[in-house]
Amino acid sequence: MTVRLRPAMATLPTYIAGRKSPGAVVLASNESPYGLLPAVAATIDGLTAGVSRYPDMTSAALLETIAAYHGVAAEQVAVGAGSVEVVGQLAAAVVDSGDEVIFGWRAFEAYPIITTVVGGTAVKVPLRDEIHDLEAMIAAITPRTRLVLVCNPNNPTGTAVGDELTRFVDRVPDDVLVVIDEAYHHYADPALVPDATVAFRDRPNVVVTRTFSKAFALAGLRVGYCIGASDVVAAVRKTQVPFSVSGLAQQCAIAALGDEEEVRRRAAETVTERERVAAALRSTGYEIPLSQANFVWLPIGDEAMRFAEHCSADNVLVRPFAGEGVRVTIGLPEENDRFLTLAESWTPTSRRS
Ligand code: PMP
Repeated sequence: MTVRLRPAMATLPTYIAGRKSPGAVVLASNESPYGLLPAVAATIDGLTAGVSRYPDMTSAALLETIAAYHGVAAEQVAVGAGSVEVVGQLAAAVVDSGDEVIFGWRAFEAYPIITTVVGGTAVKVPLRDEIHDLEAMIAAITPRTRLVLVCNPNNPTGTAVGDELTRFVDRVPDDVLVVIDEAYHHYADPALVPDATVAFRDRPNVVVTRTFSKAFALAGLRVGYCIGASDVVAAVRKTQVPFSVSGLAQQCAIAALGDEEEVRRRAAETVTERERVAAALRSTGYEIPLSQANFVWLPIGDEAMRFAEHCSADNVLVRPFAGEGVRVTIGLPEENDRFLTLAESWTPTSRRS
C-alpha cells in the first residue's frame, strides 16, 4: 500500500529557485551582489560556537531591535525563517480549508504554494499592464476571502502601486487580512511607493512583511519579519516552526539593522544601476515596465526560455518564466554590462531570417 497524500499534492507547483553555477554571473535570485554588510561580517565570526545550542526561541532581542527600527511595540513584530515563512505563518493563522486567498498574477511564485499548503483556494487576479489591478482584486473578494496578498514592488515585474493602495485597503472588509509584501522596499522611490509600515500602522487588518534577504544581504541566513496589530502578530508567532530562526541569523539581523547607512548607500547604487540597465535595454528596443525593485522584467513571452539559454551559454544566469518573460537581477556594474551585451546580441525568433 502506498501512503495516501492529500489530493492537493498532485497539483502543488514546485518553487523554482534561480540557478547557481560556479563562476557564473548570477542575476537570477534578486540577491544583493555586494556581499556581507561590514557590521555583519564583524559579527558573524564570533558566533559560530553558539550553534551547538538552541537559539532564543522567541528571538526577543531581534524583535526589540526591529520594533525600535520601525518605532512600534515589540508585540507588533513576528519573525520567521525568511519572509516566505512569515507569509506562510500569516496564511496558517487566517486561512482555513476552502477559504480564498487573493493575489495578483503573476506575483511571487510562493503565494500559490503557500495557499495550497494551508488548504486554501488561490484566486489569481491578472495584472494589468504588468501592474496590480487593485480594482479587479476588490471585485474578486467574496465572503470566503480571508487573505489578500499585495506584493509591492511586485516580483517578478518590479512594478509598484502608489497611493491607490490606501483607497484599496479602505475597501477591503475589516475581517479580511491584507498582507503587503515589501521584500523590495529599499529599492523603491519613496515619492512613488508608500512605506506600508507607516501608511497602514493603525489598520488592524493590514500586516507588512519585510526580509533581510535583499537589501540587508542575508539571503542565506533566512530571516524575515512582519509588522501588524498585536492580536494578528500573536497568532503569527504561534504558527512559526519552533527555532526556525537560528541564533546566528538573529544576531546578524540585529547587526544588519545597525548598518542602515551602508544598506541605503548600496540600495542607491543598485537603483542607479537599475536605471542604467533599463535605459540601455529600452534603447535596444525592449519594452520593459518601470521597476521599483532590484531587478528588471523583460516581458518577452514565448522567447523567455530561449533568451535565458542565450545568456546561460555565456555563463550569465537570469530567471525565465516560460511563456511570460525574464527577470534579471541588478548586479555589479561589470555583471550588468555582461548581461547588456547579451541582451543586445539577442535576436528574437520573429526577426531571424
Ligand atoms: N517576497 C517576495 C516578493 C520575494 O521576492 C521573496 C524572495 N524571492 C520573498 C518574499 C522571500 O524572501 P525570503 O524568504 O528570503 O525573506
